[in-house]
Amino acid sequence: MEILEQRILKDGAVKEGGILKVDSFLNHQCDIELFNEMGREFAAHFKGKVTKILTIEASGIGIACVAAQYFRCPVVFAKKAKSLNLDGSLYTATVHSYTYDKEYTITVSSKFITKEDTVLLIDDFLANGQAMLGLIDIIKQSGAALLGIGIVIEKGFQSGGAKLRQMGIDVYSLAIIDEMSPGRIRFRKS
Ligand code: 5GP
Repeated sequence: MEILEQRILKDGAVKEGGILKVDSFLNHQCDIELFNEMGREFAAHFKGKVTKILTIEASGIGIACVAAQYFRCPVVFAKKAKSLNLDGSLYTATVHSYTYDKEYTITVSSKFITKEDTVLLIDDFLANGQAMLGLIDIIKQSGAALLGIGIVIEKGFQSGGAKLRQMGIDVYSLAIIDEMSPGRIRFRKS
C-alpha cells in the first residue's frame, strides 16, 4: 500500500534487534485517516462474511476497531494480563513476545468467539508469527472458522509470514519489508 510505505519511509526508525519504530502513526500516536485507508484496504481484500475481528492487546486494537467499521462486526481482543473481570470459561494460549522477549498467556472469554463465528485476525506487525499462532490456537479451541490474517507491517525477513502461508492461511500484509537497516528500508514489490 503506497501511502503506508511512504509513511514508513518518512517517519519509521530502524532500531537494534530488527525493530521498526513507528510510534508517531501506529504504535503510540495513531493516524486515524491512515487507519481508515488501511481498514478500507483490508475490506477490499477479504471478501467473505466476517463475524468477528480478533486481535491482541494493545497495539492491534486501534487498527482492528477502525477496520471493523468496514466489516460491520465486533472486535474481540485477547488480554495479556489476568484480570479479575475475566470470569466463566476462557480460552488461553502461550505467546512468546518478540519485543519484550518473554512468554505470556493470552486469554479470551469463550462467550465472545464461538463455533458459529468466522474470524479475521488483525495485528500491527508480523515478525515470527508467535502472536498469530497464539490467536489461531484460540480459534481452534472455539471451533470458529478462520477467514484470514490482515497485517499492517510484515517483516518479510522473519519467518512468520512464510510459516502462516504454508499453513494455507490467506495472510494479507499492507506493507512487507524484505530488508531494513538504519536509514534504509526495502519493500517487497508485488
Ligand atoms: P511475532 O509474534 O509475529 O513474532 O511479533 C509480532 C508482535 O510483536 C506484534 O504484535 C508487535 O506488537 C510486535 N512487534 C514485532 N516486531 C515489531 C517491530 O519491528 N516493531 C514494533 N513496533 N512491534 C513489533
